[in-house]
Amino acid sequence: MKALVAVKRVIDYNVKVRVKADNSGVDLSNTKMSINPFDEIAVEEAVRLKEAGVIDEIIVASIGPKESQEQIRAALALGADRGVLVLTDEKPYPLQIAKILKSIAESEATDIILLGKQAIDDDNNQTGQMLAALMGIGQGTFASEVKVEGDKVNVTREIDGGLQTVALDLPAVITTDLRLNEPRYAKLPNIMKAKKKPLDEKTPADFGVDMASKQEIIKVVPPAERKAGITVGSVDELVDKLKNEAKVI
Ligand code: AMP
Repeated sequence: MKALVAVKRVIDYNVKVRVKADNSGVDLSNTKMSINPFDEIAVEEAVRLKEAGVIDEIIVASIGPKESQEQIRAALALGADRGVLVLTDEKPYPLQIAKILKSIAESEATDIILLGKQAIDDDNNQTGQMLAALMGIGQGTFASEVKVEGDKVNVTREIDGGLQTVALDLPAVITTDLRLNEPRYAKLPNIMKAKKKPLDEKTPADFGVDMASKQEIIKVVPPAERKAGITVGSVDELVDKLKNEAKVI
């Protein structure tokens, strides 16, 4: 069996986001970039399936600028076997990503296609769902457990107030939630080995996908600044302020 894992290059989740002065987007200059955290969980799950003997090969794909090869190499260091970088300097949108991933998944005949449930930069939560629809295959989104049994996969999904388990025929699309696993750290020898693993470069045109955007970002604004808090001297003072100033009790 083969797995395809989609990894997006995003601003690192520890970095405080700066909005550009003209409100046209987020300032990415001199900013630490990483694999989207949910995609790291997807890579880890694929590696665990390989270690369990379920999967033989893991292909990692990223669509983005040249620098996205850093995130592909990071996934290769975690245990993926080879990478595909689809080069574009345009901002890609979920439908374009899904169309490209569909071509890769079909040409590689992958059985399990793992994506993050959402990319933490644009928060779309659309690509996995669109990919499954375009391919006409089942989807298990927000996965907290994945169990492959023969030509089926059982995916336990995090839903409001509980869990739901669905059985999907393979091939299937799975999107990862936070509790699926805890990704490992890459070991130095594996980081060195990853440099030698194959990494193919393609363009969206190779897949017949037009990157012209059908939407325009009008404005990006940072969250409102929170007012500084105060320290109260006693519980009585706290209760008084809650009662008479904040009027919440
Ligand atoms: P989104 O629908 O944008 O929230 O993204 C959901 C998931 O789709 C991500 O967690 C990735 O697994 C995948 N994805 C989105 N954009 C890209 C990209 N540019 N390259 C590779 N995978 C992507």
